[in-house]
Amino acid sequence: MDLYEYQGKELFRRFDIPVSDGRLATTPAEARAAAEELGGPVVVKAQVLTGGRGKAGGVKLADDPDDAERKAAGILGLDIRGHVVRKLWIERSSEIAEERYLSVTLDRGEKKPLLMYTTEGGVEIEQVAAEKPEALSRVHVDPLEGYREEVGRALVGDDEQTLAIVAKLYRCFTECDATLCEINPLIVTPAGVVHALDAKVTIDDSALFRHPDLAEWRDTSAADPLEAFAREKGVTYVKLDGSVGILGNGAGLSMATVDVVVVAGGRPANFCDLGGGGSAEGVVDALEVIARDAQVRSILFNIFGGITRCDEVARGILAALERVDLSVPIVVRLDGTNAEEGRIILREAAPPRLTVEPTMLDAARRAVELAA
Ligand code: GDP
Ligand code: MN
Repeated sequence: MDLYEYQGKELFRRFDIPVSDGRLATTPAEARAAAEELGGPVVVKAQVLTGGRGKAGGVKLADDPDDAERKAAGILGLDIRGHVVRKLWIERSSEIAEERYLSVTLDRGEKKPLLMYTTEGGVEIEQVAAEKPEALSRVHVDPLEGYREEVGRALVGDDEQTLAIVAKLYRCFTECDATLCEINPLIVTPAGVVHALDAKVTIDDSALFRHPDLAEWRDTSAADPLEAFAREKGVTYVKLDGSVGILGNGAGLSMATVDVVVVAGGRPANFCDLGGGGSAEGVVDALEVIARDAQVRSILFNIFGGITRCDEVARGILAALERVDLSVPIVVRLDGTNAEEGRIILREAAPPRLTVEPTMLDAARRAVELAA
């Protein structure tokens, strides 16, 4: 889960990393009020889950509340690479003498957290890495040993302020189960104070259950509404842009089903994994999610019975069809444990608009035909 800058800064504040005082605003009037409260010049910053806001015109300095209101009106509604600005972060403006870069990421190859630092901050880090790799300092942290000051010194040298921020950022990274904590720019003011001017934080989704306070920060309005609905229902769902709705049990089989629909000449409307179970509840939830997509013209239900028995899944499908009002045809392929029993159950009940096909390819061809 990616955090907005203002959320990342709230997190930094909890770990005692210096950030500017600021306020959230959703209208120009609120931006003016925030500037009045903060006093003096402010920065008006678009809150969108994408980088490079500065270059895209999403970060503007404002001299006074009037100016803040005007700048806010100009930034709200702006489309920054497909992200429409609905929220602004108004913070007290900083004077900048130097812009640096500091981050902790997870280096999956090395299976270790990686600290990166450069005094060439402010620009995109990929650019520094490509054009001036010698300016980018990289040090891994042994996760068993944890962070030690020598590691920080190897990364940034002996500046005590910066060293303290590195240690705090590393703590923030591990204690929040983050996969990224990035400060770009980490500034030095003319008075020599080191300070985080931006915050980019990603929390590992798999660890969110340990951080209910952070999980609450998820902005469902920014996500695709169907995907948000699926998440609420606990269904693994990714929207695609075709017309054949797909439901499989297990991620591998669901991926294969997406492929076989393409082989059969169709276009998948989604990826949807029912998971291990085949209970009526699970099937109802998944069908509800898939059927909400107005582009879906047919549904392909591909089940391989292992621990989940096909006769149970078949009963689950029948129970689900009683509860969900489906207007599109559904094609079922059952194989594996108790497949024959499952097919018999479906054939005998013979619900309208449901066909059973013997193989995955047959089922895909039929679903593609029905979607045409
Ligand atoms: P990004 O473009 O999305 O990474 O947004 P940033 O928060 O990094 O802001 C972009 C740039 O705006 C920074 O690199 C700074 O140069 C400038 N900026 C942001 N905040 C301030 C501030 O308080 N004072 C000044 N002078 N410039 C700022
Ligand atoms: Mn930045």
